[in-house]
Amino acid sequence: MTENLSKKCPICSHEGIHIRSLSKNNIMSELEDYFAEKPPEKIEIIDYEIQQCKNCSLEYALPLEVGSQSFYQWVTTRTGYYAKSRWEWFAVIEQINKQERQNSISILDVGCGGGNFIEIAKKLSNTRVVGLDTTPESVEQCQARGFEVYCETIESFYNKFSSETFNYVLSFHCLEHISQPKQFIASMLSVLKPMGSIFISTPYSPMSVESDWFDILNHPPHHLLRWSKKSYEELAHQLGCEIKFYMPSANSVMARTTNNFSLSKFGKNQTVSKLRLFQEIIKNPTVFLKIFFEQLMRYRVNGNIAADIVLVEFQLSSKISI
Ligand SMILES: [Zn+2]
Repeated sequence: MTENLSKKCPICSHEGIHIRSLSKNNIMSELEDYFAEKPPEKIEIIDYEIQQCKNCSLEYALPLEVGSQSFYQWVTTRTGYYAKSRWEWFAVIEQINKQERQNSISILDVGCGGGNFIEIAKKLSNTRVVGLDTTPESVEQCQARGFEVYCETIESFYNKFSSETFNYVLSFHCLEHISQPKQFIASMLSVLKPMGSIFISTPYSPMSVESDWFDILNHPPHHLLRWSKKSYEELAHQLGCEIKFYMPSANSVMARTTNNFSLSKFGKNQTVSKLRLFQEIIKNPTVFLKIFFEQLMRYRVNGNIAADIVLVEFQLSSKISI
């Protein structure tokens, strides 16, 4: 494991400011709260800091060191870790369907996991879908389902099959986990056909649940990078790309406030009745109002209140048509 000792932003190399310390003990205790289960000591957690880039607002971990294999082995086997379905999978299919085409198309899914998106994409007519993942168990699972999936990173795939190019190169919920985002997207661009599109999804940070609750899974060692509109725009600028943002509708301000309040008072693992929640609001009206006003002021993307997920389309600048 190589520790990245630079304190500069991994997108634009500007200085960052320290916004939070996150010690090993904090992380272990937050993980215990999140999963209602003590994490094993062997998961090799280290101390981190969170910095925010003064230029592009990206929040990034220091050191930019990916969670250990033992951490991922533990966290990925917790109940409910892998989504069975995601909004952005269908948003991508909708965008692909909007394109007029006469010929067959090809899709590369980077970090395809057990292949749930591949199964959906294979229903598109005249379409070849290829997946990449670095977890051997996930690759075997996909291959057992009859999918064309390789145990490779995007970089090692390109080195082996540099002549292979795709109309769409996708990566769902990977970019927040890695230490070299610019290199990752550049590698995706290298396997993209002319006029092709890259689609990336990540959480939109800070998420609406983070007004008054600490979401350890949106922090290191799980997520090293916390993305916003401005940081994506800087990434696209650095790579000579144009970008478009897609988002689902955000929940209403009251739903977001209530959800965040409930998490801050009861955590993630309690079922709370409406009456109990109401009693707690009466006892803590200032906390509830503070969250409410923060939610009212929540960022906007494309003129709408930011949801917790963003799907971003990258195209090389000379190729985009607006
Ligand atoms: Zn930056």
